[in-house]
Amino acid sequence: MSNTKIDVSEVDALVRIRLFEALTVANIRYKTLVERLHDIVFRYDDEWCIIFLNQAWETILGYASTESINKHFMDFVDPEDKPSMVDYIDANDTTYKELRLSHSDGRAIWFELSIEPDDEGNGGVGLLHNIDHHKNIESALRITRDLAIEAMEEKSNFVANMSHEICTPLNGISGGLQLLQTTDMTEEQREYVEIGLKSSKQLQNIANNILEHSKAEAGQLTLEAHELALASMVENALLIATPAQHNLQVISSISDDIPQIIIGDPTKINHVLLNLLSNAFKFTEEGSITLKIGMDADAHQINIIVKDTGIGIPADRQETIFDSFTQVDASITRKYGGAGLGLAITKRLVKLMGGQIFLASKEGLGSQFTVKIPLAQKASQA
Ligand code: ADP
Repeated sequence: MSNTKIDVSEVDALVRIRLFEALTVANIRYKTLVERLHDIVFRYDDEWCIIFLNQAWETILGYASTESINKHFMDFVDPEDKPSMVDYIDANDTTYKELRLSHSDGRAIWFELSIEPDDEGNGGVGLLHNIDHHKNIESALRITRDLAIEAMEEKSNFVANMSHEICTPLNGISGGLQLLQTTDMTEEQREYVEIGLKSSKQLQNIANNILEHSKAEAGQLTLEAHELALASMVENALLIATPAQHNLQVISSISDDIPQIIIGDPTKINHVLLNLLSNAFKFTEEGSITLKIGMDADAHQINIIVKDTGIGIPADRQETIFDSFTQVDASITRKYGGAGLGLAITKRLVKLMGGQIFLASKEGLGSQFTVKIPLAQKASQA
């Protein structure tokens, strides 16, 4: 057995060489990785001067690394974003920041910046992710959306104006026909006037719904507060909605505890009453229509119940009929007409008044709409 003496200093030198080789390989790997990244990686000193850059800097921004090293990072920030970048640096913020850098040809390019400051406060490493493409899409979408909103508002204003223009002569037609009704006429003439009056009422209702719908679309639905006598309003709405000829029993009641004068928006309440009553009459051929106005148990809201014994609404359609332009099915449009706007507007108006609307219905048996509106009572005089 040989007795070889190991030279410790020789082993030590060998280990050092191996370690150095391993380190060099790791360093090259790391450098290649950083160089090949599509994102910009940079190192900055305690003054925010650039001391290292990867290839992406030149590829994306068009400046050679040599002309950028030792320059202040702020020299490359787009003038519009300089103030916010100063705040960002001053605040030692390390959250993501969106900012524009100036390309060598003058274009501004959007980036998402994230930084990792050194523990000793001697600068840090920054990563710039190019988000220019997303930002351009985002701004194009924003412009398109704004244009669409503008066009929609213009259209809604036009429709609102047109509906108003249609309503005015229609009121004249209805009024004239009503006056004609009070004159001496043959049975045949009376029948023709009835037909004219019924059609003009229907048209008035549709025009009113379109008017309110376009006002709502244009964000112009506002609530007014006036003193109003609910009982006479209800009576009047019933009078308008009831067709001259029908085979229905009409039951109407208003409970004694309803204050004589309440504060509310008469046009909106009237519109709700007319829509629900017109539907009840429209979809009921025999039986009864009941209109019941009462106070809620806690006396803070008024309940308006409109009940009919008509065709009813299938369970699976009871939610969607409150959507605009929705009817139960195409056969309804053919048989009864209508635009599918009444209930959507009614729900909107009720909501605007701070209330709620509920529907209970059974196909073939009838429907009941319940509207609950918070009560604003006339302040008692001292
Ligand atoms: P329309 O002007 O078409 O009547 P509405 O929004 O007022 O529009 O009503 C939507 C649909 O809901 C109607 O087409 C009808 O199918 C159904 N509906 C509304 N009220 C009643 C009712 N009282 N009885 C049966 N169906 C009704």
